[in-house]
Amino acid sequence: MGYVAVRTGVANLLRQVLRNRLTVLAYHRIGGATSQFDALFDDSVYSCTDAVLDQQLTLLRQMRNVVTLDQVCDALDGVRTLPPRAALITFDDATQDHYSRAFPLLRRHNMTGVFFVSTRSLTERTIEWWNLLGLTVKRAAAGRYDLGQALGGPVILTDDESRASAIKTITAQIKLSSTAADALPVVLTIAKRLGVELPSVDQQTDGVISSAQLAEMQRAGMAIGSHTHSHPFLNRLSPEQQLAELTRSKRILEDLLQVPVRALAYPYGQASDYDQHSREAAKLAGYDCAFNLLKRRVVDVRNIDRFDIHRFPAAADADYRFEASISAIAV
Ligand SMILES: [Zn+2]
Repeated sequence: MGYVAVRTGVANLLRQVLRNRLTVLAYHRIGGATSQFDALFDDSVYSCTDAVLDQQLTLLRQMRNVVTLDQVCDALDGVRTLPPRAALITFDDATQDHYSRAFPLLRRHNMTGVFFVSTRSLTERTIEWWNLLGLTVKRAAAGRYDLGQALGGPVILTDDESRASAIKTITAQIKLSSTAADALPVVLTIAKRLGVELPSVDQQTDGVISSAQLAEMQRAGMAIGSHTHSHPFLNRLSPEQQLAELTRSKRILEDLLQVPVRALAYPYGQASDYDQHSREAAKLAGYDCAFNLLKRRVVDVRNIDRFDIHRFPAAADADYRFEASISAIAV
């Protein structure tokens, strides 16, 4: 074999290696303290502002090939090759800002995203527990409250700083120490103990995406995925309960959208939040793939567990950190 043939062979091999590498970005709320309702939430629930998302999408367009969920599923099946520098953009929790802020920006940039929906928030029109927790602690009258050992003991709420720190502590307790798969009842108890009246369902409805909006996004080329039904800590449920969560949510979305729902995102997405039974349930429920939040920046689609695909959270700025995060790896 001559030098040129070897060089061509190496170049082809390299192209093949680089072609099936994928970066999956994960976003949560887009926005900030721009409205009365938003201002009541804790700052930590926002991934970035819409202006930053706009800049990040511009950078992605310059530096990456943004692919669709179908392209990724086909690559996992081995029937299609991903373009070099492939990136998939995903959003969790189907908050109202995904429709009003992220969706128009994606369209303007001629890109598609995957939106993961917990169907309970869709059917019951209520916002998720961590938003209600932030809102509760921000609204509570100043004072000292004893939430009990399970929730981190006494909290003193005075200024913004003490409230932000209380939100952090309670959230950590719920995530790490509680055994409740569904944290919503825990937060309702906290609201009672802090003497805070939560917004009515009518008011909460403003914060979540509607079925009609979701269908509109799907028609416009966005992919809709499942984020379970009640956003539980899956590993705190029995294998049967896990399967029920994944099946119910898939059925609700498919009834609404009339297309197969191919992808799942595990709620919370850390290694301590889902387990082998979750991965088996994802397969049994008929999903083509499932995503975690374990933060690896690049995956090789020919060589991964399709029910455990890594995503990483996008940086809150469109500065060098974000740029480095999408360019640092040789892709
Ligand atoms: Zn979530």
